[in-house]
Amino acid sequence: MVNQPVLAANDRVAERNRGYFKGLGLLVMNVVSSPGSGKTTLLQRTVAGLGSRLRTGVIVGDLETDNDARRLREAGARAVQITTGTLCHLEAGMVARALTALDPRSLDVLIIENVGNLVCPAAFDLGEELRVVVLSVTEGEDKPLKYPPIFSTADVVIVSKMDLADAVGIQMDVLRANIRRASPRAEIFELSAKTGAGVDAWCDFIAARRAASA
Ligand code: MG
Ligand code: ZN
Repeated sequence: MVNQPVLAANDRVAERNRGYFKGLGLLVMNVVSSPGSGKTTLLQRTVAGLGSRLRTGVIVGDLETDNDARRLREAGARAVQITTGTLCHLEAGMVARALTALDPRSLDVLIIENVGNLVCPAAFDLGEELRVVVLSVTEGEDKPLKYPPIFSTADVVIVSKMDLADAVGIQMDVLRANIRRASPRAEIFELSAKTGAGVDAWCDFIAARRAASA
């Protein structure tokens, strides 16, 4: 369990972040998933897809290594890595500190790739406008029902690795119904970062949201 004073302090910093982002007209997304859902590959595709339209920065959280930030830089993003050591989620203060390395005034979109974990990131607001949950078809149909807090607070649910849907035999109608039940207000996207199918619709959504928040 996360203790209440820690959460209350985080919420204050998250509100400060949110005010700062709004003032800049910066669209900020907090991307959460289990480990191995293909978040970084999806974000590489997303950065490349937004490339000609929007300037995108990425803050990446992992326990160790800066491999993901390097992959995102190769895709053309300005990217900064946060290594959390033993902490299995990002907190708002970490985002505020990492921001200084990104020159946020010259960005249109900021993507925060959270640590791979569907549990405690649900409790830590980072000041984002959109909470995005990525779920791969290899994880089965039940995930949305097993992790209610992160799904109920999601603004977007992305079903990833759609190119593997047939191979793993997932029942897409069951998965869609479970997502709808767990995330009643979320926009849902189905895509494959590997083939690129569905990525354009996702990038168009980001561009539209950024236009609305600028
Ligand atoms: Mg990653
Ligand atoms: Zn945690």
